[in-house]
Amino acid sequence: MAKVTLSFDNGPDPKVTPKVLEILARHDVLASFFVIGVKAATPQGYALAERAKACGHWIGNHTYTHETPLGLDDDPSAPEREIGATQRVMGALSETERLFRPFGGGGHLDARVLSPAALQYVQDNGYTCVTWNCVPGDWKDADGWPARALAEIAAQDWSLVVLHDIPGACVDRLDGFIASLRKQGHEIAQDFPPGCVPIENGKVIRPEGMAWLGEQRGKA
Ligand SMILES: [Zn+2]
Repeated sequence: MAKVTLSFDNGPDPKVTPKVLEILARHDVLASFFVIGVKAATPQGYALAERAKACGHWIGNHTYTHETPLGLDDDPSAPEREIGATQRVMGALSETERLFRPFGGGGHLDARVLSPAALQYVQDNGYTCVTWNCVPGDWKDADGWPARALAEIAAQDWSLVVLHDIPGACVDRLDGFIASLRKQGHEIAQDFPPGCVPIENGKVIRPEGMAWLGEQRGKA
């Protein structure tokens, strides 16, 4: 038996997010949605994020365009353009603790995730940085991801699972996956495993949780 936290990235999506919300509600599960600014900026996208928040899910920032991982973007305006702009779109949807999840492109957790400038921006603007420790690859294997997720979950104390509320990803297997979690006796929580929160309210509280930045910081 282990602890499990679910997160849904890269939405909101008009076709998929409502289904994800229904499934979570049916199972009485609270999760987090890390939204892409450009999607949350549409009236439909904003309304979906609003609905998720009203259900009790947490809404976090997942960059504005989700095109280039911040660790690979040398443009000095990138952190403001990607993180700041999304936060402005989110407005009242933001949690009091501003949740930000970077991305590494395909789940990579290494120097690609944050540039030194982006890391500084996250600190200066008081964000809480939320990473992950379980990426079962729902977007590239819409049928096979639950088996991988369940194996990883069984192998560690507390998994923060990254899924995606986008077409062709987790949605068709989500209901069965949550049923399996329950059947296997896992506890589903909304809060994050401490090891996945290296920065809280702009303060680096767990430098060891950012070992993946090491190579880059060494270079700086
Ligand atoms: Zn993402």
